[in-house]
Amino acid sequence: MSADPDAMVDGFGRRIEYLRISVTDKCNLRCVYCMPLEGLEWLKRDELLTYEEIAEIVRVMAPLGLRRVRFTGGEPLVRRDLPELVAMVAAVPGIDDLSLSTNAVLLAEHAEALKAAGLHRVNVSLDSLRPERVDAIARRPGSYARIMEGLRAAEEVGFAPLKINVVLMGGTNDDEIADFAALTRERPWHVRFIEVMPTASNLDLSRHNYVSCAEALRRIRALGELEPVGGPTGNGPATYYRFPGAAGSIGVITPMSHTFCDRCNRMRLTADGQLRPCLFGDLQTDLRTPLRAGEPLEPAIRHTLRVKPERHELVQGSTSGSGGLVALSQTGG
Ligand code: SAM
Ligand code: SF4
Repeated sequence: MSADPDAMVDGFGRRIEYLRISVTDKCNLRCVYCMPLEGLEWLKRDELLTYEEIAEIVRVMAPLGLRRVRFTGGEPLVRRDLPELVAMVAAVPGIDDLSLSTNAVLLAEHAEALKAAGLHRVNVSLDSLRPERVDAIARRPGSYARIMEGLRAAEEVGFAPLKINVVLMGGTNDDEIADFAALTRERPWHVRFIEVMPTASNLDLSRHNYVSCAEALRRIRALGELEPVGGPTGNGPATYYRFPGAAGSIGVITPMSHTFCDRCNRMRLTADGQLRPCLFGDLQTDLRTPLRAGEPLEPAIRHTLRVKPERHELVQGSTSGSGGLVALSQTGG
């Protein structure tokens, strides 16, 4: 741990150097595990942080040890002119890793501008390799074709490493675990399987269709020996493996079966300016009010560090979700 007295270290000695910034709660898809088809209320325009306000928060946190920023949502690319924000954050001294989580539907249109603005890499959600399934999971026809264009554009402009997020759903895509894994032999993709987390809008799915990453690894090992490897850039919660000689790797993210909270290095900023010490639960600190009043932000940031919980309280098979959260798109997954 750093001896830097200004560094953001929480009550459990974890050093916080990573901020996930949600730029919008809206999305152009309605993934079955993430958002309800209807009924979510959108934030109003004046509730959203402006790009200048987001950049200001990053400028305050960088001298406190912030090094890595990810833009997420909702779908970050539905917010207009995202490359402008990327450029503003890229210009903050100390920020050396800038990434984007996206469903890739709009990525082909924006990949070049994002790269030129200083974005280093992208994580793309892709829950199936079959066109009709992707469209059914996303509940938006035509998604698959556009996501494939987005992935091609990401490779062409050189976003690397390219990570693919696959949420495991029994009876929906678990028969493709082997296909995804096999893909990593040829392609330099880092495919990460994620255990579905319960929210109020997915309780049936998260209770009855949960598949653990241990089960995914068991099925993958039937294809061939796996060797543990260090992850590609970005110390996230995933644990990585590889088929010997493969171009890519296989990661598992296990929020339900094994928490990785002991190595948590992050906080989250919601689109309306709440700093959240943990994805789940209801702890958050309002940064927007002091920001708009011209008051210092550091006290609110330090408070958030002090209350950051030791671990999340998610329970597999939950009948209530967590902390009143209806959809991950609301807090920035
Ligand atoms: N729209 C972007 C995307 O899909 O990548 C960014 C936001 S999305 C909320 C971020 C990540 O959260 C995606 O990889 C998505 O698959 C994952 N996610 C959403 N809801 C989830 C849930 N209930 N359990 C596990 N992962 C979830
Ligand atoms: Fe939208 Fe991403 Fe949620 Fe899918 S996972 S509904 S793409 S925010």
